[in-house]
Amino acid sequence: MTEDKMDKKRGIYIHMPFCVQKCNYCAFLSFRADGSPRKDYTDALEKEIRLRADLERQNGTDKDIDTVYIGGGTPSVMDISSMSEMMRAVRRSFDIKEDAEVTLEANPATLGIKDGVTLAKLQAYKFMGVNRLSMGVQSMDNDRLHYLGRIHTAENVARDMQLIRKKGFDNVNLDLIFSVPGESGENALSDLEKILELDPEHISCYSLQIEEGTPFGDMAEAGELTEVPDEEDRETYHRICHRLADAGYEHYEISNFAKKGYRSRHNSLYWNMDEYIGLGLGASGFINGVRYKNTSDLDEYLAAIEEGRLPVAEEHRNTAFDNISEAVFTGLRRREGISYEEAVRAYLGAEASEKKDLKTADDFCDFFWEVFADARDEAREYADRGLLLIDNEGLKLTEQGIDISNSIMSLFV
Ligand code: SF4
Repeated sequence: MTEDKMDKKRGIYIHMPFCVQKCNYCAFLSFRADGSPRKDYTDALEKEIRLRADLERQNGTDKDIDTVYIGGGTPSVMDISSMSEMMRAVRRSFDIKEDAEVTLEANPATLGIKDGVTLAKLQAYKFMGVNRLSMGVQSMDNDRLHYLGRIHTAENVARDMQLIRKKGFDNVNLDLIFSVPGESGENALSDLEKILELDPEHISCYSLQIEEGTPFGDMAEAGELTEVPDEEDRETYHRICHRLADAGYEHYEISNFAKKGYRSRHNSLYWNMDEYIGLGLGASGFINGVRYKNTSDLDEYLAAIEEGRLPVAEEHRNTAFDNISEAVFTGLRRREGISYEEAVRAYLGAEASEKKDLKTADDFCDFFWEVFADARDEAREYADRGLLLIDNEGLKLTEQGIDISNSIMSLFV
């Protein structure tokens, strides 16, 4: 196991649940901003930041923070003064490492129409310490963007990207959605070429999921929308993977590709079973072996903060089995897979692993398969079919195995 994985990290996720309008496929926790700056929300968030930091200090579990991720929703619709105040509260309340990765989701066409306004907004993000931007581009075809319900055009993306570079941001992620109904694999690949022309450091690619309760979900139910067949979706995915490999991007997680040195440090926390503090509406956290989730009800959230309480709606202390199961589930998302040692350490805790006198790869392998004795035969079958690689160090999905990753991962739940 690499030093990097032994050295556990900690991050902060902050949720901004407002968007200009709701996209047709969106099942995320977000609402129309209705033009209001939602100062009540950022004020409440600042209080939550202080409450959470106080709790960490009281529990003696406060640690330096490696990454901050401001996601949504669309954080870039929030007004700059509220966002700056909020980031000041974060820095006053937590020890953010000097070299921390600080990501902000900034959707195209929300950074301001005039170049001067956009540059000023980007400058303000720099002052706040933001050093990574993530843009929900999704497509570079204006008809498809319109169909998806996005508010931007391909021209907006190109222009925003130019200004982002002009301001000196050198770590940018662009998201791409493929398998949009009516879209061919060729269309998706053509989008990808246009995204590559923008030369981002990181690209995330997702196939469109039609979710219940969204306009697309309603259309599918009414028979007005035909989902792209699985086979076609998978073929497009593999074509994207190969094109990105040719373009020099490392495929490091099922949906994520990065130039060397530009993996998302924050998202890697999730896949490495590291700790993170979730702040804001509906945000989740994993601290000291406890998973928690804030309420998703905005009124309840504001009321809890008003009463001086953390807005936590659910809390669960992980069992040892939860820990190993989640470590395998999330670890298999990484292209390097999961080592038995990492998984067993998640189960026993680092110190207990030492006490158990587990030293060699074989010790960890034996222990791992004792815990997952019931899954062993099926795992071997997947391996025989070329979908899972099993060796004496650990397991990883093959590229074909990714296509049925959920079935394989569910063996370990
Ligand atoms: S911008 Fe993102 S969060 Fe907002 S509605 Fe669209 S998909 Fe949902």
